[in-house]
Amino acid sequence: MPDAWLPTPEDLDARGAAQAALHERARAVAHERLGSRVFVRAVVEVSNFCRENCHYCGMRRDNRSLERYRARHESLAELLLRHRPPSVTDVNIQSGEDPIAARELVLPLVRTLRRETSLGISVCLGTLDEGVVRELHEAGATTYIVKFEAAQAALYEQLQAPGTLPERLAFIRARAASGWHVTSGFIAGLPGQGVGSALENLRLAAALPLAGCSVSPFVPGEATPLAGCEAASLDLTLNCMAAMRLMRPDWVIPAVSALNLVGEGGGYERGLGAGARLVTINLTPDGFRDDYLLYRRDRLIMTEERILSALSTHGLEPSRQSLREHLDSLRAARV
Ligand code: SF4
Repeated sequence: MPDAWLPTPEDLDARGAAQAALHERARAVAHERLGSRVFVRAVVEVSNFCRENCHYCGMRRDNRSLERYRARHESLAELLLRHRPPSVTDVNIQSGEDPIAARELVLPLVRTLRRETSLGISVCLGTLDEGVVRELHEAGATTYIVKFEAAQAALYEQLQAPGTLPERLAFIRARAASGWHVTSGFIAGLPGQGVGSALENLRLAAALPLAGCSVSPFVPGEATPLAGCEAASLDLTLNCMAAMRLMRPDWVIPAVSALNLVGEGGGYERGLGAGARLVTINLTPDGFRDDYLLYRRDRLIMTEERILSALSTHGLEPSRQSLREHLDSLRAARV
């Protein structure tokens, strides 16, 4: 059940001492739940083919300037089985909305990982058909990441996000009802959207059956209809993160790498100081990374070294328990 607390517009607008106090409260709540533990997940971006056309994303189908790729099962399996960094306890397999990759690449990879490792397995693949989603779950994936992006149906439609907002929310609810841990997310500071829209996003997130939620700052993506727009405010994004931690102390809240693409720098470390307790090491093979174009080609790739250095600035350390075990234990405690 969502806690009753919701942020005020003043919370989301906080700067200076008020903002420091908000983030301090969020940090304290995270510490109470998890001590100094942070979950470390690896991400592999396995295909940049996408049938959708979201205005905020460089992988939209209308971007003809992008070289499209699908990775190979053997090389991904080799990478994840033999060369993953020691701190990694979970893997997120991510792609554009590409049903072919889901069936021919992701499904065999999930089976391999389940057979050979105890890694927790998340997937972020878009709104796929029931059949393949069920097969992924049966194969051993346990967390489905599906962002609702924007809480206002008209804005969602205007951005050409996948399907309609009610369909997206129905997909989230259906996954949660069928045994998945579901995490979602939204974009802060989309063009023309400020504190009011952030509040609506937080209210919607609180009403969904989620195990966690992310907030990404809007970054004007190369080769997108929003390329000329202004990026989101880092402060608004960080305040949303802190608000989520206070709203839902049990949630998995990640520090997303896009925090480093807005503001004056140091956004990622500040995210860890605002209650985030999940970090992601990017293991996408070198030859593919540049074409996984969520925002811009000059991505800052989060390596284990960068992650550990960011954690140490807050006295945090990698969790030995996987995110999957953690979410399973929270669920068991609820029933
Ligand atoms: S946000 Fe996802 S669904 Fe939308 S265009 Fe990008 S990869 Fe495709």
